[in-house]
Amino acid sequence: MATELDGKALSKKIRAELAHEAESFIASTQVRPCLATVLVGDDPASAVYVRSKRRSCERLGFESRHFPLPVETTQQSLLTLVAELNADEAVHGILIQLPLPEGMDSSVVLDAIDPRKDVDGFHPENVGLLALKKARFVSCTPKGIMRLLEESGVDPKGRRATVIGRSSIVGLPVALLLTHAHASVRIVHSRTRPEDLEAAVREAEILVVAVGRPAFVPGEWVRDGAIVIDVGINRLPTDDGKGRLVGDVDFEGASERAAAITPVPGGVGPMTIAMLMTNTLEAARLQHAS
Ligand code: NAP
Repeated sequence: MATELDGKALSKKIRAELAHEAESFIASTQVRPCLATVLVGDDPASAVYVRSKRRSCERLGFESRHFPLPVETTQQSLLTLVAELNADEAVHGILIQLPLPEGMDSSVVLDAIDPRKDVDGFHPENVGLLALKKARFVSCTPKGIMRLLEESGVDPKGRRATVIGRSSIVGLPVALLLTHAHASVRIVHSRTRPEDLEAAVREAEILVVAVGRPAFVPGEWVRDGAIVIDVGINRLPTDDGKGRLVGDVDFEGASERAAAITPVPGGVGPMTIAMLMTNTLEAARLQHAS
């Protein structure tokens, strides 16, 4: 039976360490790390994510400034707000909650963020630095996955890793980070032949799944002794209307074969927020030093 990789407990430990670091940074510089969150529209899931990011800031003694904007906001006015936040020296990190409403081009908006305030690590400059192994801000989910592996004593060196998904937010950066950590990485996606996808899963000693479809990976595909990182967040309907969160992997089936697996919820999700806090403190440090 697989060990559960408890992202919730680890993120708690990381946040406790960060609280100490933040306290001494604030005491020595009189600068309070500040994260600006921007939420356009009223998507309930996005509102929940932003709320928990803001709560994390407040618990760490960071300043949290929130900018809720109506769904009819124009891209131009959002860009004006980003320019104001870029110019505001008291703001160290800027987070635009995705997805943006239809009609907005998220890449235009994300590219407008000052790369030194890009705590999500989505700006082309930060993505390029990551690719060149000179990372400044690494996007939070891939960074959290690597930290979870490290803290669980999993060294990717020389191992066969498969990443399902090639998004610029999760799949591609985690594949880069695993490559930098000396794994032999295979990336598969929607255009991969089905037989190749299954073979890629079966050979994986480390399997990262970031697709967004419940039970996408059947348990019997999982290699004996594999480390399974399930990034997916899918809400299944329940009788009480609240819905139930599941990942992309058949958790029960995979648990019978894997050595370790992340639960959903409580695996990758909490690590993502902890890494956002790490990046925000780092942004405050960088901007204070420059
Ligand atoms: P995304 O941008 O929609 O990317 C999904 C990826 O899955 C794409 O690369 C797509 O391939 C691939 N894919 C789709 N159908 C496939 C199929 N039939 N076979 C193989 N590959 C397929 O999503 P994302 O932003 O990477 O997020 C993925 C999941 O992770 C979502 O459930 C999201 O909610 C979750 N997530 C969780 C966290 C967290 O903190 N836990 C953070 C971010 C995302 P193509 O490129 O060919 O289209």
